[in-house]
Amino acid sequence: MSPFNSNDTGSVSVSVSVSETATLYIHLTMSQSEKEEAVAAAPLSVPFPPETTPAPQPVFLPGMSHAAETPTPSPVPAPAPSAIPIRPKADTDTETAADNSSSSSSSPSASTVDLPRLRLHIQDVAHPGSSVFLSSVNAATVLRDSIDAIHTHLYTDPLSSSTSSSSLSPPPTRSVTLILRDMDGVAYTTGVDLDPEHHKEIHFSLRYISSVAPPSSSRQSAEIRGVLLHELVHCYQWNGRGRAPGGLIEGVADWVRLRCDLAPPHWRRDQVPAKWDVGYQGTAYFLEYLEKRFGEGIVRRLNEKLREEAYDEKTFWTELVGGSVEQLFEDYKKTLVKGA
Ligand SMILES: [Zn+2]
Repeated sequence: MSPFNSNDTGSVSVSVSVSETATLYIHLTMSQSEKEEAVAAAPLSVPFPPETTPAPQPVFLPGMSHAAETPTPSPVPAPAPSAIPIRPKADTDTETAADNSSSSSSSPSASTVDLPRLRLHIQDVAHPGSSVFLSSVNAATVLRDSIDAIHTHLYTDPLSSSTSSSSLSPPPTRSVTLILRDMDGVAYTTGVDLDPEHHKEIHFSLRYISSVAPPSSSRQSAEIRGVLLHELVHCYQWNGRGRAPGGLIEGVADWVRLRCDLAPPHWRRDQVPAKWDVGYQGTAYFLEYLEKRFGEGIVRRLNEKLREEAYDEKTFWTELVGGSVEQLFEDYKKTLVKGA
């Protein structure tokens, strides 16, 4: 019944193996029951590094996943060297299926939703991007917090009693594996071949991560969190039985990113998009306009409607807001011109 239903038994296993080529694989799995301990014991934590800014971009693949987004060239690719923090803590040893059921109070923030099994796979730990990633974010925390945020924005009715969980159902995602590897583009999400509905993989480019260069230390962390949040939305959003426009799917993902204050500096709220479903931030700002115009929760209802039925543009929008999306878009563009 639980939306994020995880029937895993609750063991933490951290296994580390180093090959001759210095490739290091880190597998971190975590489930709800011992997430706090897992976080406390997670070998991946640490401070922050520098800043910069790139830009995710286009190309869309139908369904829940989308094509690798193309980064805009980043000014100064400056990989941040750093130690790789593999530090199993006190009572959790590597190679151990630890049963840390003793309570821990040091967990950063407890998740309010059932988590899927979360895994981290670093394909090349010697890659500069791996150091940047490991020193910028705590993988366990960032994934968990992102899923919480998605739940808040897409599945929690702001009008219903504050603490109760929503009755809206996210897709039945049971595991998410984050794979850091050297590849073109920024990131993409895909279903695992054998069971794409329940098991997702997020591929995140180490090359891209290493290109998110410094200046201010929070920038790398914010960009990594922003990209991961966007990709995780793809693991938890509905798509109108695969019929929703790719630009709408991407727009919802970036709208959640926007909502979480993770919009990168290059996003432009006042830019007039070519069409409403141009995708990414162009559609995200349009969705934000709809939230203002029709009241908070319209994107949540939109997502819910994408769960209920196959997307058909005309009836979808008429039933959702009582008008055509083209007309809404014209209204929206007027506000941009006025604003400018
Ligand atoms: Zn996307």
